[in-house]
Amino acid sequence: PKYVYDFTEGNKDLKDLLGGKGANLAEMTNIGLPVPPGFTITAEACRHYLGHGRMPEGLEEEIGEHLAALEARMGKRLGQADDPLLVSVRSGAKFSMPGMMETVLNIGLNDDSVIGLAKQSGNDRFAWDSYRRLIQMFGKTVLGIDGELFEDAMDDLKGEREDTELDAGDLQRLVEIFKGIVRERTGRDFPACPREQMDLAVRAVFDSWNAPRAILYRRQERIPADLGTAVNIVAMVFGNMGPDSGTGVAFTRDPGSGRQGVYGDYLCNAQGEDVVAGIRNTVPLQELEKINPAAYRELLDIMATLERHYRDLCDIEFTIERGKLWMLQTRVGKRTAAAAFRIATQLVDEGLIDMDEAVTRVTGDQLAQLMFPRFAATAGNHRLTTGMNASPGAAAGRAVFSSERAVELAGQGEAVILVRRETNPDDLAGMIAARGVLTSRGGKTSHAAVVARGMGKTCVCGAEELEVDPRARRFTAPGGIVVNEGDVISIDGGTGAVYLGEVPVTPSPVARYFEGEPAEDELVEAVDRIMTHADSVRRLAVRANADTPEDAARARRYGAQGIGLCRTEHMFLGERRRLVEDLILAATPEERQAALDALEPLQTGDFTGIFAAMRGLPVTIRLIDPPLHEFLPDLTDLAVKVAVAGDAADDRDRRLLEAVKRLHEQNPMLGLRGVRLGLTIPGLFAMQVRAIAAAARQVEDARAEIMIPLVGAVQELEIVKEEAERILAEAGVAAAIGTMIEVPRAALTAGQIAEAAEFFSFGTNDLTQMTWGFSRDDVESAFFSRYLDLGVFGVSPFESIDREGVGRLMRVAVEEGRRTRPDIKLGICGEHGGDPDSVHFCHEIGLDYVSCSPFRIPVARLEAGRAAL
Ligand code: PEP
Ligand code: MG
Repeated sequence: PKYVYDFTEGNKDLKDLLGGKGANLAEMTNIGLPVPPGFTITAEACRHYLGHGRMPEGLEEEIGEHLAALEARMGKRLGQADDPLLVSVRSGAKFSMPGMMETVLNIGLNDDSVIGLAKQSGNDRFAWDSYRRLIQMFGKTVLGIDGELFEDAMDDLKGEREDTELDAGDLQRLVEIFKGIVRERTGRDFPACPREQMDLAVRAVFDSWNAPRAILYRRQERIPADLGTAVNIVAMVFGNMGPDSGTGVAFTRDPGSGRQGVYGDYLCNAQGEDVVAGIRNTVPLQELEKINPAAYRELLDIMATLERHYRDLCDIEFTIERGKLWMLQTRVGKRTAAAAFRIATQLVDEGLIDMDEAVTRVTGDQLAQLMFPRFAATAGNHRLTTGMNASPGAAAGRAVFSSERAVELAGQGEAVILVRRETNPDDLAGMIAARGVLTSRGGKTSHAAVVARGMGKTCVCGAEELEVDPRARRFTAPGGIVVNEGDVISIDGGTGAVYLGEVPVTPSPVARYFEGEPAEDELVEAVDRIMTHADSVRRLAVRANADTPEDAARARRYGAQGIGLCRTEHMFLGERRRLVEDLILAATPEERQAALDALEPLQTGDFTGIFAAMRGLPVTIRLIDPPLHEFLPDLTDLAVKVAVAGDAADDRDRRLLEAVKRLHEQNPMLGLRGVRLGLTIPGLFAMQVRAIAAAARQVEDARAEIMIPLVGAVQELEIVKEEAERILAEAGVAAAIGTMIEVPRAALTAGQIAEAAEFFSFGTNDLTQMTWGFSRDDVESAFFSRYLDLGVFGVSPFESIDREGVGRLMRVAVEEGRRTRPDIKLGICGEHGGDPDSVHFCHEIGLDYVSCSPFRIPVARLEAGRAAL
């Protein structure tokens, strides 16, 4: 295979191979934008290297050829003593992983070429600064030396001075000191050979794919572990050549609101990574207009070109070298959830995309984020300061000042806010654990902002008035107010406000819109337009899992087209538990019937309320499913109670204890539950069916569907169905009778089961449990994280349908069920019904509806629309 692509050979659709950065550098090159020349080593080469522990055959030569071509084009050789070509070695995976992997700049410098660079540039200081940066970055990234050793050495040399006040002599001394650190820490000299530098850097980038923080980030973002990263070798351009040079980042529109305009940060006389790292304070991009009007205009032109070309918001990194603008990166930019909806409809209004495409430009996860609550009145809380509104939402919690402490306290169930001067990739675990992130430095493109937005986590950044002291675990706000570790603060990612104490929260306007309030602002209008269009294109219906009239009503407001799962077991708890005990304790048919007779009117009342809330829409009621012992007291508690009471023990307690012992099972989830209960306890299912029929008669336009759980054989269903049909006929009520498909055998014999079932509903919770043999109640904590690390699966199969295994069973059941009964209704009611990827899968295999919890209904509607496009 071909492992190396020149920028002129690639394009934006080759992200699998070239990674996001490489594919877009190629795209920009090909549309004529000023990109420094270079080439990309493919992710396939990385996968080979990681899989075999060595570089693929022929790669070295291929790199050599492309390097030679680059050298010919630039008219100088890598590291050439009198006029060196320098290159950067940059990681770039298919999915952006901000700051997770490595980059090394200024490859090609050594004791000879630094002199050449100084001569050619006429700038000694620049040359030595570039060289010390190389040794520092290379030392840390490639040689694995603790970065603080370099920073401390630099601080020692600087004393009270700023970076920019170091002169060429200082920097030359620093180079010697840095080389000393390398020698001391690695036992060998800093490699002077330019090609060796490059090869080692490439290897380090490949290795960084498996750095712990990259693994953690991928798991969080659900990025598959086996993609690998591409590597870009790019001719260096320099933003640190003097005051007419600089570097910056920009968005083609506001990633927070979607508004058009100039959004970015610029840093004079600096090299790329300085901006993203938030080390020095940047100026707003607008200032570039004064500093270099020509480059500014060209940049705005390029941004407009990119928006038209990508038909989307782009973010860019650029460098200005002695007045000349160079594009170092672009990609379709990350944005907040609110901006995603606004931008999608704005682009429609600007004629760049149509509504179909607008629907595909937003996700169910983004919609879910917009439904999060906001702060209610903040008047009662003291506002400490206002920073930048980097990532939306509202969060309150105890201030913590290190990633470790965040993880520790969150582990104890505390809500925490991670407060840092700035974050870096090592803070990732703390950011995940925290409710929100607050930093005192860095702009909207700082690490904290970018990562928090990606995670959907509330973030306020650049709150410069705060003096954060991580060592003392406190920060000081204007007015001398000190917030210590453990004090509660609240941050508003929408406004950037930081408050002392806990601020109460209120529902979001988007959630209120789904509750039926009219669209009153721009964002809600955008949501409304997109939801309306998604509804018009989707094929899947969306139903709710609801078992109270309140939930049913809310689900209906959120757009549910019926109930796909009404679990009846919740109706036997509380005060009714005693009636269930009576049923279990019944010694004679008469006693049993008396208990059932007591339950029946209560059940009728339950169903009446739900039918009324869902009037005119189908309501699938599932007959009782869980093992009966779940309704009885705990064995140990009861045994102790009876033993302590001795001879004085209550007779009912004694009988209950016997029943608990009798009903005890080693594997209750595989035991007496579902249809097995119905076939074992006479009258139980019949009582429920009678209650359904009675309720259906009471409510006009009630559309009942009766669902039998845990069926594995058509015979089970036939027996229950016969009785149910008799009861329905007696009552003069029509109701479809169907089954859940949640035992693998049911899926495999779906052709037979469909003879008796008018509908199937996939119970993917149990189906996943029984297909994998993972206990759905225990497994997540025990070994799932290990399995995720090992890549057995990329995401828990209880969260997202395992397409190859569980999904295969579903396909079989769909196909064979339809073959037997072409008009059979097919749905899903496991938790997966509200999971975006699973909704797409259900669309693909041709289900009629998905059913999910009421709050997920808008998400399912949107994803069903996206799946259809
Ligand atoms: C299922 O198993 O997927 C299901 C919906 O039933 P329950 O979760 O009640 O077992
Ligand atoms: Mg189940």
